[in-house]
Amino acid sequence: MRLTVLGASGTYPRPGGACNGFLLQEGNTLLVVDLGNGCLSNLLRLVDFTELDAVLITHMHVDHFGDLYPLYYALRFHPDKPWGLRLILPQGGLAQMGCLLGDDARDFLPRVFREEQLREGKTYRVGDIAVRAFPTRHFVEGYSVRLEGEGWSMAYSSDTTPNPALVEAARGVDLFVCEATLPSSYEEEAAHGHLTSTQAAAAAAEAGAKRLLLTHIWPTFDPGQLLAEASEVFGGEAGVAREGMQVELGGGGVG
Ligand SMILES: [Zn+2]
Ligand SMILES: [Zn+2]
Repeated sequence: MRLTVLGASGTYPRPGGACNGFLLQEGNTLLVVDLGNGCLSNLLRLVDFTELDAVLITHMHVDHFGDLYPLYYALRFHPDKPWGLRLILPQGGLAQMGCLLGDDARDFLPRVFREEQLREGKTYRVGDIAVRAFPTRHFVEGYSVRLEGEGWSMAYSSDTTPNPALVEAARGVDLFVCEATLPSSYEEEAAHGHLTSTQAAAAAAEAGAKRLLLTHIWPTFDPGQLLAEASEVFGGEAGVAREGMQVELGGGGVG
């Protein structure tokens, strides 16, 4: 499986960057997990959007779903009408998207996207990839996800405060992509809905994750500092997610 980082900035983009999004390619399966503002442009460098198998949105914050809007228009006005893209997102997500659209555009929304509710306790199969959702502790309903295929496993935190379900999602994974919105000294601010660098590292250590990739760092902060803080707590390989970064997991290959 090849993971490509489409965007890694938390809440607002860094110069030239994008908010959160990831492309998973396993065989011929193409799954996008989160599509924050700025991600679609990076996605289109890699694949044809009409060939996506599904898009999964972990929660309805703009830095995680904003580029669903341009994707909607790209699909809607495509001459071949490749409509019905599977869209897995928290309950009411499509209706929430519709609030920003006029009547005409709103009517097309459930035809362009085939909505499926993301919820705890269900396994979603997208081609060769299995996905399970674990509830976050955040400002709105959201889910960390565990993704597995032949010979590999990974987890993505979405946005959350420290949470036993986060550790469960990441238990023993090959790669844990975990939000580290704030430096370790900002624990009080993070308590409102996010993780610090050291809290992300502690979750990765408790879960026994093999490798940690920090994401969702606010552009205000120095990623090098947050990585150094995380590395004091997490003994395995750790890095910082950047747009365009690719990680290969397992032996499934890319078709
Ligand atoms: Zn976010
Ligand atoms: Zn959020």
